Amino acid sequence: MTARPPWFDEVLAVYAWADEQVRLHAPICTISGRCCRFRDYGHNLFLSHLEASVLFIGAPFQVNHSQQFDDTGCPYQINGRCEARESRPLACRIYFCDPAFQDAMPAIIEEGIRKLKQIADTHGTGWSYSPLHHFLDNRYPAHETIPLLREPTPCDDSTSRLPLPLL
Ligand code: SF4
Repeated sequence: MTARPPWFDEVLAVYAWADEQVRLHAPICTISGRCCRFRDYGHNLFLSHLEASVLFIGAPFQVNHSQQFDDTGCPYQINGRCEARESRPLACRIYFCDPAFQDAMPAIIEEGIRKLKQIADTHGTGWSYSPLHHFLDNRYPAHETIPLLREPTPCDDSTSRLPLPLL
């Protein structure tokens, strides 16, 4: 079991805050699973390095040495379900395709990212914000779970589709 970094619970507190904001708006989810199939849905999942570490610690899995990740979809979606429910990143918790939620969503996401940046500043971790596949490709060594806090290489994925604010 990988040790949790000192800011781990602070990130979970941001997630709890986000979950509460979403609960107040009660957006509808029909469990189509499309939002996790990024290319089909025409967007991508961006997250911070803090969120990536929480995801990889909370829901570690083994990958083959040859496995490559891209923006097709999330490898945590299995049989249409999220296998990282408790550890899923901020955008996964806030993004809903319900039209009635579209106006409220950006402000919640922006505030959530602001909170995460504050944690990064407080703990001096630096800040990186990249697509999920970028973190996966940079952090998985062969046949091992993901190590913590290795800074990913700079993201130059200029073709990524963004449904969410990139701050
Ligand atoms: S972590 Fe879960 S909710 Fe987020 S994109 Fe992956 S499968 Fe979907």
